[in-house]
Amino acid sequence: MVSTQIENRGLLHALTLEALRSVPRHHFVPSIHQKRAYEDRALPIQKDQTISQPYMVGLMTSALELTGKERVLEIGTGSGYQTAILSRCAQEVFTIERHASLAQKARQELDSLLCENIRFRVGDGTLGWPEEAPFDRILVTAGAPEVPTALLDQIVESGALVVPVGGKREQQLLRIRSTPEGHSRETLCHCTFVPLLGQQGWSA
Ligand code: SAH
Repeated sequence: MVSTQIENRGLLHALTLEALRSVPRHHFVPSIHQKRAYEDRALPIQKDQTISQPYMVGLMTSALELTGKERVLEIGTGSGYQTAILSRCAQEVFTIERHASLAQKARQELDSLLCENIRFRVGDGTLGWPEEAPFDRILVTAGAPEVPTALLDQIVESGALVVPVGGKREQQLLRIRSTPEGHSRETLCHCTFVPLLGQQGWSA
């Protein structure tokens, strides 16, 4: 999966590739889709959500330019697969999911893989995690109508936020860097995520 779907497409961030090689994706895929766990696609999980395509997980993780020392906030725990990859590339991961049942299942899998540097929260991630802010990096794994300002306010100076922004069905993946002069915004690619629902997302 990693060589053909990810490295071959030019993704070369070593820490990300190592993490993708070490985390068994089938642990995070529902039993009815086990045979497809290493295919080049997103798959359905419970609560009408999805586990992201492996390439997209790789792209978003490498876009964060992690060195292993960062505190990272993830919005949208979902299956927990992206969380596992982040936990191998960062010092500490804080992850928020609005569905308690998904958060609980993800936690069980992550515990069983001994990912110990993760803190979980159930709630509206569009508001971030003010008690633990600021974060070196923030990753949103659901599509927002616009960049949630609460999240922009929770990144350190020189930090970055990676977030899909656009319509309910299609978005652009943005990387927003915080600099002393303000925020700079880059478009990384076109993408398709489930909607980010919440106070600074789509209405639920
Ligand atoms: N990274 C996950 C992607 C899951 S899909 C994976 O690969 O498995 C996106 C997730 O974001 C869904 O689980 C959805 O419930 C969650 N979500 C949507 N809006 C949210 C919000 N405001 N706060 C927290 N989680 C949210």
